[in-house]
Amino acid sequence: MKDTDIHSVIRILKEECKKWKEPIVTEISRRHDPFKVLISTLISLRTKDEVTRDAASRLFQVADNLYNMAKLKQKTIEKALYPAGFYRTKARNITRICSIILNEKNGKVPDEIDELLKLPGVGRKTANLVVTLGFGKPGICVDTHVHKISNRLGYVRAKTPEKTEFALREKLPGHYWIEYNDLLVTFGQNTCTSVSPFCSGCGLFSFCDREGVVRSR
Ligand code: SF4
Repeated sequence: MKDTDIHSVIRILKEECKKWKEPIVTEISRRHDPFKVLISTLISLRTKDEVTRDAASRLFQVADNLYNMAKLKQKTIEKALYPAGFYRTKARNITRICSIILNEKNGKVPDEIDELLKLPGVGRKTANLVVTLGFGKPGICVDTHVHKISNRLGYVRAKTPEKTEFALREKLPGHYWIEYNDLLVTFGQNTCTSVSPFCSGCGLFSFCDREGVVRSR
């Protein structure tokens, strides 16, 4: 696609995405609670949205703020997270993160990417999502959907999500940064799926280079 097509692409994505449920972390971010965005993003790593939704809901029922979660035993967190992927590792990271934020950060979730990256289990995807959805600050969260679709469209050509993030920071207009993740995650879950995307009915077909797509429906 041409760089200038991005405005039409975003407009079409906004229309398309009205048909589907928004990602769980976006839903949680409407409560304007960075701590919950951080915890639900950690739960969502390598885990389907429906499983994340239930696991986050069970955990927030037991403890819905930092102070209460810091008091939980790791086993209790594990039980709430199961069957989310890597639930034991995630429970251990959540326990450590609660202790670090409480004892070293005055109970405040960091709002800078570099500070968030120092927390256990927090990578660029989680850090960007906390900064954008938790604090409303600029950032581009690149997960597997954002990486895949940005490259399929031919908007960027990058081998890894991290390289895609930096390529997007160079060319994606700033006012699209925060919503870009939401739109592409929702679109990736429903139309531009990992294996065999639904190209024949895709609203972006006329713009898309379909880079690397070998099989489609
Ligand atoms: Fe994805 Fe196919 Fe649509 Fe391109 S045309 S965005 S590859 S579904």
